[in-house]
Amino acid sequence: MQNYQAPDQQGFFGEHGGLYVSETLIPALEELKQAYAEAKQDPAFWAAFEHDLKHYAGRPSPVYHAERLSKHLGGAQIWLKREDLNHTGAHKVNNTIGQALLAKRMGKKRVIAETGAGQHGVASATVAARFGMTCDVYMGADDIQRQMPNVFRMKLLGANVVGVESGSRTLKDAMNEAMREWVARVGDTFYIIGTAAGPAPYPEMVRDFQCVIGNEAKKQMQEAIGRQPDVAVACVGGGSNAIGLFHPYIGEENVRLVGVEAGGRGVDTPQHAAPITSRAPIGVLHGFRSYLMQDEDGQVLGTHSVSAGLDYPGIGPEHSHLHDIGRVEYTVANDEAALNAFDLLCRFEGIIPALESCHALAWAVENAPKMDKSQVILVNLSGRGDKDINTVAKLKGIEL
Ligand SMILES: *Cc1c(COP(=O)(O)O)cnc(C)c1O
Repeated sequence: MQNYQAPDQQGFFGEHGGLYVSETLIPALEELKQAYAEAKQDPAFWAAFEHDLKHYAGRPSPVYHAERLSKHLGGAQIWLKREDLNHTGAHKVNNTIGQALLAKRMGKKRVIAETGAGQHGVASATVAARFGMTCDVYMGADDIQRQMPNVFRMKLLGANVVGVESGSRTLKDAMNEAMREWVARVGDTFYIIGTAAGPAPYPEMVRDFQCVIGNEAKKQMQEAIGRQPDVAVACVGGGSNAIGLFHPYIGEENVRLVGVEAGGRGVDTPQHAAPITSRAPIGVLHGFRSYLMQDEDGQVLGTHSVSAGLDYPGIGPEHSHLHDIGRVEYTVANDEAALNAFDLLCRFEGIIPALESCHALAWAVENAPKMDKSQVILVNLSGRGDKDINTVAKLKGIEL
């Protein structure tokens, strides 16, 4: 594991990943691959990245000992990596800053992005304003109706929100449309993908930008407790916050790594978003190969999760590989467990967490009591929950 260096030259993590796109997109992806390979070797690129993470996003985000929650649960000590404290309220900005800097380096004046719940759209619109680029965000027409506050945020930030009427009118269709638009205007356009998925080199690139989470955490935990946690846990949608925490820990064999998928109403029902836990077969979607929820005919299945950010039928290729080689354990938390964790963090720590992050927290809530008080669980608190209060109120039968 020390020399874990995936992906290979073709962008494969074991048998997952790669580049499954129409021929028209190959030149754009080649140009991107080349530009990123050069940027990756350039200390000035990383210096600009670190500058913005510090002065614009507010990093480093702290690690925080959730003492009252730990005491209440009566077992392992729970620590939180506070990605919720970043500008725009989640880890997504780490990635959009990195990709916007790359777009600037490539001389692109326009960025496009896809978004489901709108979080990645907002993070993209934010950096487009910061770097003086125009921004078009592709969003399913149904999602636009469901996520009005984020649509308005994007508009305030100067972005143009493009409604996508095809297919199920949600994230999956928005991503297809963004890819089509990229082909049409590859000369001046940079496509900012929001998670550690998509065709090569996106999964690797997004991972590299998000690794700031795990690199900081390693240093901070060493300073705080003189060692690394026994377990590091993160929720998995496409997998960017999780791979950002896990990747720097892959060689630390004493640190158990746990990825939590969205169990929805249960993996034994059709209403979940848990490709690995539900043992989905391998398939191709959005330009890469990985475990993918699909029926016998290869039609992509609908998904459900209480958290919009985890509502995706696939999973980033590096996670599928880490599952195959047994380095990361993948499991689920269902809607109910996530909502219970939401309430606990509000009441015991004064932190309103994103519903996505509550899936990782739910693992800690379930498992901390079975562990010793001297043991430590590090939970990636990927985002804050202000965006979710309407959803939570509705589920509690409260009118806002
Ligand atoms: C988008 C989002 C996620 C899921 O995306 P990943 O790429 O799996 O990290 C998780 N948490 C929050 C707060 C998000 O906004």
